[in-house]
Amino acid sequence: MPVIKYVPTFELVLTRRCAYECGYCNFTNRPSPLPPSRKVVRRLLRLAKHLDVNQVTLAAGEGIADLPEIVRVYRYYGFSSWAEYLADTLRTVMDSDGRPLVPVLDVGAIGFVELQKLRGILPAMRLMLESADDRLLYRAAHRNAPHKSFAARLRAIETAGRLGVPVITGILVGIGEHPSTWMKAAEAVAKMHEKYHNIQEFVLVPFAPSPRTPMELHSPPSRETFVQACMDVRNVLDGKVIVSAEVGGRLDFVAPAVRAGIRDLGEIRFATSERVDTELASALADIGESLREQGFKLASRQTLVNGMRRRGILPTEIVELLRRQREYQHLVRNGGESSATTAS
Ligand code: SF4
Repeated sequence: MPVIKYVPTFELVLTRRCAYECGYCNFTNRPSPLPPSRKVVRRLLRLAKHLDVNQVTLAAGEGIADLPEIVRVYRYYGFSSWAEYLADTLRTVMDSDGRPLVPVLDVGAIGFVELQKLRGILPAMRLMLESADDRLLYRAAHRNAPHKSFAARLRAIETAGRLGVPVITGILVGIGEHPSTWMKAAEAVAKMHEKYHNIQEFVLVPFAPSPRTPMELHSPPSRETFVQACMDVRNVLDGKVIVSAEVGGRLDFVAPAVRAGIRDLGEIRFATSERVDTELASALADIGESLREQGFKLASRQTLVNGMRRRGILPTEIVELLRRQREYQHLVRNGGESSATTAS
């Protein structure tokens, strides 16, 4: 039976502060927590483990390393830079007891020198292109987000590529971009992957208007538009990079996306450090059931697939983490969690 995969994920919000304002973003319009201490991170990881996730996405706004309130916090914890704080948080996730969790950084671009220091303990970065359409820099979507120009995003992905850091990238569909730019984004990512072999997956996310954002009155994309974007991207990337439809709350997009050849749903966030989605597990069970009726099986996967381990670009510590996670999952499937806990 063909399998539709997803990565069960916990989002740990480090801070909602951001130096920019993307027109569709609701991340920044809720009160921002202070970046958590190591002790608080450990407490949140215990919650993540209860939810049986495989991945912890460490999320923050972009361009914040020098904001006075961020500087004050990381200095208070004894770090000399934001990157040093991130390194410590990555290490805390990787070294946590019991169920092994894979941390992914979703904090925007990181400079070459800092990324070089993080590389050994950074399994992957989530660095969305968002769009290959630079006309959006003059529209609501990216008017106040110059760092989202196509060239700037590609440069950030290339920096990760030069250092062999796996990248999860992709586009937002329906933020005012021209449809021809879906393929343009996919082609640029395909070239990057040919050169550096570090693209884990290309995700397509349907735009969903959020209250209190500059684009709250914009219409979301129709199912047909989203499916067309999936097909255009697949035409370029199939056989090279996993193409995922990360539909978020638009669960009605799953079946048409699967009919269009999508076999991966990317990250499914069961909870954030601020809120557990109590509805999601049952909604996911419903999707699993409806996919079964169509002849598919829904199953979770690890963060890094797409031949990343075989390519030999991963540092030893990350290969070891993935091995421990696979072994743990195998033990849980075959002998229950208690034996897995003992083994780890
Ligand atoms: S860069 Fe844009 S999308 Fe990311 S947190 Fe800041 S405003 Fe939101």
